[in-house]
Amino acid sequence: MDIKAATKFLNSIPITEVGRHLGLKLPEHGGVRCPFPDHRDSNPSFSIYRKQNRWICYGCGRQGGSIDLVKEVLGTSFIEAVRHQRP
Ligand SMILES: [Zn+2]
Repeated sequence: MDIKAATKFLNSIPITEVGRHLGLKLPEHGGVRCPFPDHRDSNPSFSIYRKQNRWICYGCGRQGGSIDLVKEVLGTSFIEAVRHQRP
């Protein structure tokens, strides 16, 4: 699988499932405290949009899809994040 196909595949994995893989407990949909280690969130600023399979943190301003979640949690580059989960 090339990077482009891997990217498409990985971004189709539900955010919640990716979170589980990373050891995070994320809801299927809705708000939760930001899971990123460098954001100490006292409110549930982190929202998950199941339909779009996207997330956004209104506290630290970061947003993205499944790969971006891996990228932010592990602190890796986009390519590394793709490789990390590459099937
Ligand atoms: Zn945040």
